[in-house]
Amino acid sequence: MNLFQKLFGSKPVMTASSPPGNHRGSQTFEDRETVLWNFLNETIAYYKSISCYCAFPRFRQMIGIDCTDYRKAFAVSETECLIGISSQFFASQPVSNPGEANSELRTCKNCGSSYLFGWQDFSISVNRSVMKPVRINIEDRGAAALVPIPLFVGPSGHGLPDRTQMIPVPFDVFQKYMRELKPS
Ligand SMILES: [Zn+2]
Repeated sequence: MNLFQKLFGSKPVMTASSPPGNHRGSQTFEDRETVLWNFLNETIAYYKSISCYCAFPRFRQMIGIDCTDYRKAFAVSETECLIGISSQFFASQPVSNPGEANSELRTCKNCGSSYLFGWQDFSISVNRSVMKPVRINIEDRGAAALVPIPLFVGPSGHGLPDRTQMIPVPFDVFQKYMRELKPS
């Protein structure tokens, strides 16, 4: 296990070897994924109460994390969760893209922005989805995306990004990052 896996926690190892417990810091991977899933569901509702989710650069950043950009094979929980939650808000049309096992042009039903969706399985335990913006039709309302990308659950897989690219943060820091608005 490398340092990054230790910091983020490793999916199979942590849940199999960690004894159950309620003391602080003993949250399992599943616990953190549940917290993440609930928070991101509420975050999509929050984005929609202000504008479209497409108007949030940090939403676009999260759904656009692609391990192949880092020449590694990993999937990021934040990316998978957000794509899963928001897929109902996009109309999709299959496109040919030899780099992916499955590729679609996804158009936002709300503002018409379009994204290229890709899905690929790198191994039995690592499959990743990604949605990269093709055309954004709406003015930004959210704060600009930052690097290293702060993540609460983070990546798992073979060969992980380093801390100049993605960084593990406590939940409250991630929460603030995802909700921050562009200064007016
Ligand atoms: Zn939109």
